[in-house]
Amino acid sequence: MRESVLKYSSGAVKATLAKGERTLLRGVSFSLEEGESLALIGETGSGKTMTALSIMRLLPRGIRQEGGEALFLGEELPDTEGMRSILGSGIVYIPQSGAEALAPLRRLRFQLRDGLMKNGFPREKAWARSLELLSLVGFDEPERILGSYPFELSGGMAQRVVMALAACAEARLVIADEPTNGLDREATAAWFGLARKLFPSAAIIVITHDISVAGLCDRAAVLCGGVLCESGPAGKLLADPAHPYTRALIAALPANGMTETPRLRSGGSDCPFYGRCPEASEACEGEIPEIRLAGRSCRCAMVQTLSR
Ligand code: SF4
Repeated sequence: MRESVLKYSSGAVKATLAKGERTLLRGVSFSLEEGESLALIGETGSGKTMTALSIMRLLPRGIRQEGGEALFLGEELPDTEGMRSILGSGIVYIPQSGAEALAPLRRLRFQLRDGLMKNGFPREKAWARSLELLSLVGFDEPERILGSYPFELSGGMAQRVVMALAACAEARLVIADEPTNGLDREATAAWFGLARKLFPSAAIIVITHDISVAGLCDRAAVLCGGVLCESGPAGKLLADPAHPYTRALIAALPANGMTETPRLRSGGSDCPFYGRCPEASEACEGEIPEIRLAGRSCRCAMVQTLSR
C-alpha cells in the first residue's frame, strides 16, 4: 500500500477587508499518496494559490484559516515558525518565476551548496552533486552555470536551476506554481518527465489554469470561487466531466475553439459558478450538496450521481 503524503482540508479561509469579511476558500479537500500527482485547476482568483499557501502555512497577513487540517505523512503540519525546517526539505515549493526564486547577487554554486547542506549533504561533496543536478535538469555546461549569477540566465534556464535547487531536498511533497505556463505541449510533457525524474516518489501538486495539464497528472481538482467544484482521477474528469464549470474550462481550451463563458445573471446562489452557468435552475438557489462516488466528487445541484 502506498503511503499517504498529504491529507488536506481547507476549512474556511477568510480575508478581513475594509468592506468586511470575504471567504476565499471553503471546504476544499483532497489527499495524495506517494508518487501521485494532482493538477489543481482554476482561473485567476479561484483559490488555487491560496490553497498552496494554506498547506505551507504561509497565508498572508490579514487572512486566517478556521478549521481544516493538513496532515503531512500522517502528522498535522506545524505553524509558520515550525514550517521553516520542513519547507525546502520535506516539502518544496517551485514558484512560477524561476528568476524571482533565486538570490539575485549570489553565484549559483553557493545557492546550490546551501540547498544541499540544508538537507544534510556534506560541504565537500556539494560541488560534485551540484554538477550532477544541473546535468539532470539538462545543462550541457554545468560548471559554467555554477559560476553564473541569476541575471545571466534566460527565464527557461532560471526555471531549470530552480528545479535543481528543489531537488537538493529529498522532498516528499512538491508544490509547483504554474510551471508549464507559456510552454507548448512538448515542453509541458518534458517538464513532467523531468519532475518525475527528480522527485521519483514524491507527491506532486501542479497549480495551473490550463485544464489540459490534468492529462499529465493522476488526479485533478477544479476550483471555482474558492470552492472545490469537482475532483477525481484526471483521465475520468477530462473524459467525463460532471460539473458545468469543468465542462466550461474544457470547452474554453484553444483546441476546442471556444472563448470564456460570459456572465449570464447576478448573485442568488451558494454556487460560485451560478453567474456564468448555462445550466443554472431554481435548484441552484439553495445550499449546494457535494456528492462522492468511487474517488470522484462534485458539488452541483444538477448532478445526482457520478459515473465510476
Ligand atoms: S449548482 Fe447550478 S449554477 Fe452551479 S454549476 Fe451546478 S447547475 Fe450550474
